[in-house]
Amino acid sequence: MIRSTVARVDLGAVAANVRALRDYLAREPRNGAPVPSLIAVVKANAYGHGAERVALAIEAAGADTLACADIEEAVALRRAGVRAPILVFGALSISDLDGIFEYGLTPTITTPWAARAVQEAAARRGVVIEYHLKIDTGMHRLGFRDENLRWTLPPVLASSHLRLQAIYTHFASADDAENPLFAEQRERFDAASEVVRELTGLMPMRHAANSAATLRDSRVWYDAVRPGLLLYGIVPPPLASTIPLQPAMSLTSRVVAVKGLRPGEAVGYGCRFVAQEPATVAVVPAGYADGLDTRLSGRGHVLIRGRRAPIVGAVSMDMLTVDVTGMEVSPGDDVVIIGRQGDESWQQLDAREMAAAIGTIPWEIVCRLGSRIERQYS
Ligand SMILES: *Cc1c(COP(=O)(O)O)cnc(C)c1O
Repeated sequence: MIRSTVARVDLGAVAANVRALRDYLAREPRNGAPVPSLIAVVKANAYGHGAERVALAIEAAGADTLACADIEEAVALRRAGVRAPILVFGALSISDLDGIFEYGLTPTITTPWAARAVQEAAARRGVVIEYHLKIDTGMHRLGFRDENLRWTLPPVLASSHLRLQAIYTHFASADDAENPLFAEQRERFDAASEVVRELTGLMPMRHAANSAATLRDSRVWYDAVRPGLLLYGIVPPPLASTIPLQPAMSLTSRVVAVKGLRPGEAVGYGCRFVAQEPATVAVVPAGYADGLDTRLSGRGHVLIRGRRAPIVGAVSMDMLTVDVTGMEVSPGDDVVIIGRQGDESWQQLDAREMAAAIGTIPWEIVCRLGSRIERQYS
């Protein structure tokens, strides 16, 4: 039994995106600096695409390292057969540290507290664990503050069961060309790198760039870049890119019913759409329980028979309704919610457009796609 609303994930597109990114990183001249390696971010169920299949495809396509949000996500990747290094970004304090050792994960140390916890756990097992150190250069969430490193870092470096493998930072505003914080964070990270070099005697491996920063400034590529969104074929708004990326996911359904409305009749909860003229609505079996935002009502579109049909009336838990007045629509017709239905530019709906229509970001659109929706891989 397959529900009519399905997400198709094109693993070939994901692999092609990995290769396109690698080509882009190799092409850009950087005064002789080596080509950065690729840390592929597959947190949050690979941005809703399905972590296990996507991670294996990305690994096979040649990503050097995979990264996820917490130990639990990383353990799921190992169980799925991922053998590449896996960097765990954060949330160590609420996770079971055993996973780091049992599954060979690379933790990020983001606080002195986390350093002590990992050091103690490694000492108990009699092993030395390699870690990445996160430096806070202006995001002000996790990480050692850059200006405090001279006294916060020495005790961590002195821990006999911890070995520093890399340092990194994370940009708060890489997608905003107007915001000076991006350049400030780069300068702070460069200065912090020098402090680490002084304290350790060598320049550690460094990484900083999320998707937006990867597109914007090759100076922040350092030794590795850390894109997420780009891997899935979505360019962070408002940026544009010439990298040939393909959207990896489409979301499709089928019309389950077609209903004629007389003038003055309304459809759905709250009577939010009232027909002024005789109207026809098509009912599509996908709703907010599938991750489709209620704000799409009156703002979003779907494609039916190659045409854009506006979403009207309230998006409900399991259904949404679209205005197909004047169109020949029948139950069973294909509906595209994200994806394309024809070759014209207006016959494509993507996560970026959907996000813009409702005032959110494309990351949220794909990550929220419900677990009830089956992911079909090709
Ligand atoms: C999510 C995340 C990324 C990837 O961000 P994108 O904007 O999707 O490229 C990179 N680094 C860290 C630390 C992250 O949490």
